[in-house]
This record gives sequence, structure tokens and C-alpha cells, in this order.
Amino acid sequence: MADLPLMITLMTVLIYLLPSCIKSSEIILPKSLNLTLLTDPSAISAASHDFGNITTVIPGGVICPSSPAEISRLLSYASNGERKFQVAARGQGHSLKGQAAVLNGVIVNMTCLAGVVISDDMKYADVAGGTLWVDVLKKTAEKGVSPVSWTDYLHVSVGGTLSNAGIGGEVFRNGPQISNVLELDVITGKGEMLACSPQLNSELFYGVLGGLGQFGIITRARIVLNHAPKRAKWFRMLYSDFTALTKDQERLISMADDTGVDYLEGQLFMSNGVVDTSFFPQSDQSKIADLVKSHGIIYVLEVAKFYDDPTLPIIGQVVDMLTKTLSYLPGFISMHDVAYFDFLNRVKAEEDKLRSLGLWEVPHPWLNLYVPKSQILDFHNGVVKDILLKQNSTSGLTLLYPSNRNKWDNRMSAMVTDEEDVVYIIGILQSATPQNVPEVESLNDSIIRVCKDSGIKIKQYLMHYTRKEDWVEHFGTKWSDFSKRKDLFDPKKLLSPGQDIF
Ligand code: FAD
Repeated sequence: MADLPLMITLMTVLIYLLPSCIKSSEIILPKSLNLTLLTDPSAISAASHDFGNITTVIPGGVICPSSPAEISRLLSYASNGERKFQVAARGQGHSLKGQAAVLNGVIVNMTCLAGVVISDDMKYADVAGGTLWVDVLKKTAEKGVSPVSWTDYLHVSVGGTLSNAGIGGEVFRNGPQISNVLELDVITGKGEMLACSPQLNSELFYGVLGGLGQFGIITRARIVLNHAPKRAKWFRMLYSDFTALTKDQERLISMADDTGVDYLEGQLFMSNGVVDTSFFPQSDQSKIADLVKSHGIIYVLEVAKFYDDPTLPIIGQVVDMLTKTLSYLPGFISMHDVAYFDFLNRVKAEEDKLRSLGLWEVPHPWLNLYVPKSQILDFHNGVVKDILLKQNSTSGLTLLYPSNRNKWDNRMSAMVTDEEDVVYIIGILQSATPQNVPEVESLNDSIIRVCKDSGIKIKQYLMHYTRKEDWVEHFGTKWSDFSKRKDLFDPKKLLSPGQDIF
């Protein structure tokens, strides 16, 4: 015990020295490629971690391309003859477990390729792959137009979310972000620069959308635009009955867009977790805390209706429909009237808050699932009540909301449960400490096990499998096409090796 102060001093010194000690293996690029490979400790260190804060994977170097042609030269060189090194595109590195990492290979920092060009008719925008969605919103909204499908958090890159799916509260109406792309420019694992669309190189187009970075690097995406509303009426309502919540959620997602809402999600307030009641008036906050204590779980329905002119009769009708026909706990409804931009960018305020408390850069062993509608009650009973609520404490957020399955295109690589017309999106978004990551991960494993044992047909989203058989099971009937596309577009298996598929 006498050596404790000394040990603490040594550990502190080690922590501070770590970034400069991270040593990458040496990659030498021929001069003829005319590429600058960054290998300084800060570039290597920044590319070794991601938002998940669970893995450290050290690349050999990082390039910051000034044009797609530079990426093409890199991949042509790496794939020519013997495989020289692997390559991972990295957007914001908001992956959870090293999916944008490459051991000893080259990271392509996609944020170096950013930009938005809006078409003359304002029906679409050509967006460079590394552009953040928040910047797409800023640029398009200036002209009164906007993409139609959003992730909850906008500080992620276009190429990054299109490689997964890009889901959020508008999916039930407009589909995931991958369903709102008209064409792409992609650089394959062989270094070919190809434009693709449903009509041109369609195999590549459908492969890349939700393709986990396996077939090519997206350097441009043509994104569908629509009119940008100016404001949002944003509601949260509380339920003590799970079936009443899901019944209302499912009714709302079945309504036509003029009579219904534009955005719908849901979340859980659990007595063993942090309950953020700040959306509700001060006078209700302690009542809500009491409700959560007495019920164990209170369910939050979150919806928004976008609008321009507050005098439009439709706004009044929708507000009436929400306040008068839904089965929330009487009185427990709160409405905020906010700018469209602020509504879409709402998670940034949470980020800033968590950063200021030192709680942003912590491990995030998140679990994201799709659950078919007919099994959501089983999921609620078997997972939410029997596992999550029985923990001594939980940290983070649990999201639960339905979406319409017909908004997904099965030709794309992205996987979603395909049993039924309505699929629930579940996000069990826990934060951890470096010490309790294994505990939270084993909780996640037990959730998956319980679902499997009780026949709940889940699919994971933003998953990280390490066993081939899990990937084969994940892709199911699409596996054969997925692996054929890999052989076709990236035969040397250079791209996004952090996904651990091939
Ligand atoms: P990265 O982590 O950099 O990359 C992800 C994968 O895509 C890697 O395999 C990488 O190699 C590959 N890749 C990156 N760029 C390209 C490219 N241009 N071409 C080809 N492959 C590429 N997701 C949702 O769908 N909905 C949400 O509501 C949502 N909310 C989130 C909230 C927070 C706070 C965070 C941190 C993440 C959230 N996500 C959400 C997840 C997010 O969409 C994914 O993690 C996404 O991959 C992040 O994009 P990125 O730019 O950081 O990608």
C-alpha cells in the first residue's frame, strides 16, 4: 500500500505518454502514387479509436485525400499483385467496435472529402462521402430544401450511415437513408471509379447500400431532397401501459402523411436508470419521477409534426388528434415548438452536455436490434422487464419504436427482420466504464440468447460479429450474393476489415 502514490504517478505518466508511444507498422508508398501518408502519433492515435471506446486498433498510416482519384490510386496499388495492405474508409469513426479500423493498414480519412452541390431543380444534392449530415442539412436548408430521412445524431458522415442503413424517426414514412439515394460514385477494392444506380452497375449500387464498407468507398451520393419545413411541433407523452404505447405507435405509423406525424420514436424511463424529465414542465418533473418509481417503467412516445405556417388547419387537426385520441396518462404530455434544424440536431445538445461532464468519451457497448411486431410484447417481457429492469442500475438510453418494413429495399445489403409489415427498432444504448464493459457486454449477450431461446426473430444493427457463422446467419438468404459481390468488387479483401466479415 505504501507504493500506491508512486503507482498512481506512474500510471498517470503512462496514460499521457500513450498516444506518442503508439507505434504503427511501416507502410511505404511509392513516390509515383503522389500520396502523403500520415504516420505521426496524433494521426495514428486518432484513427485507432472510435466512439465505442472499447477497441484500439493501430493503423499503419492515414491519408487525407484531396480527390477521389487519390483513393483510386491507393486501392489500385494495394490490390495489384500480392495484397500490400488493407484499407478502411473512416467517416467520423462513430462506430462501436473497430468497424472503421484497420490493423497496420491505411485509413482513408473521408472527412477530407466533403461538400454539397444542390441540383438546379433542387430535387437532389450530390454530396461527397465524408460530408457530415449536419452540413448537408445546413447547406440544403439555406435553399429551402432538405433530405427526408435522418439519424438521431447528425454528426456522422454520409458514407458511414449509407454503409449501415441510416435509421431514425422518419423511417416509417420515408424509409432509411439508404432508400433515399439515387446514385453513387464508388471506388471498388480494385481501385476502379464507378458511378452506379438502380440502372447502372446496379449490383454495386445495391451491394454498397448497407454493405458495411465491403465493396467500395463511397465518394459521392446523390441524395433525394424535398421541401424543408421551417418548424416542428415536438411532443412527448407518457404511458404506464406498454400495450397502449405500441397500439398508439402502430396506429400513428399507419396514417397518411397529411393527417399523421412526420417523426415517431419512443423510449423507456426505468426506475434503475437515469430519468431525464427535462422535456416536461418543472411542475411535473417530480410527479414523473414518482410515476417511474411506482411503475418500474414508464414509456415515452415521442412524435413531431413539421410545418411552415402555424395557421394551416392541418397543424391544428394533427395536434387535436394527438392530444385527444391517444391513450397516454392524462396530463402527461409536453409540447415544444422548435426550428426544424434544432429538432433534427437535438442530440448535439446532449453531446455537449455529456462532454462537459466527461461522459461522452466513455465506452459504449450499445446493442441495436430489429424485432418483428408480433414479438414485441415477448421482447418487452423477456428482455425489458426480466433483464434490463432487474439490473441494479442501468446507464444510458433505451429506444423502442416501430417502423414500416415496406420502406426497405431487399435488393440492398442492409438486413432487417423480414417476417412482417411492421418492425420495431430497439436501441439499448448503455454507457460503461472501462472496468464494467465485460459486464455490459455479457448482459447484451444474454439479451441475444434469451431472444434466440424464446424464438424472437431479431436482427442486429451496427453489429460486430467475430465468427463467420454469425455473419452467414445474419445475412441469411443474402449471404451468397454478399460474398459473391465481395469476390467481384474487392477480391483481395482489402476494404473495411474491421467489420471482421471476410
Ligand atoms: P465510421 O464509423 O467512420 O464508419 C462506419 C463503417 O462504414 C466502417 O466500416 C467504415 O469503414 C465504413 N465507411 C465509412 N465511410 C465510408 C465511405 N465513404 N464509403 C464506404 N464505407 C465507408 N445510426 C443510425 O442509423 N441511426 C441513429 O439514430 C444513430 N444515432 C447515433 C447516435 C450517436 C451518438 C452515434 C455515435 C452513432 C449513431 N448512429 C446512428 C450510428 C452511426 O450511424 C454509425 O456508427 C455510422 O457508421 C457512423 O458514421 P461514421 O461516419 O462515424 O462512420
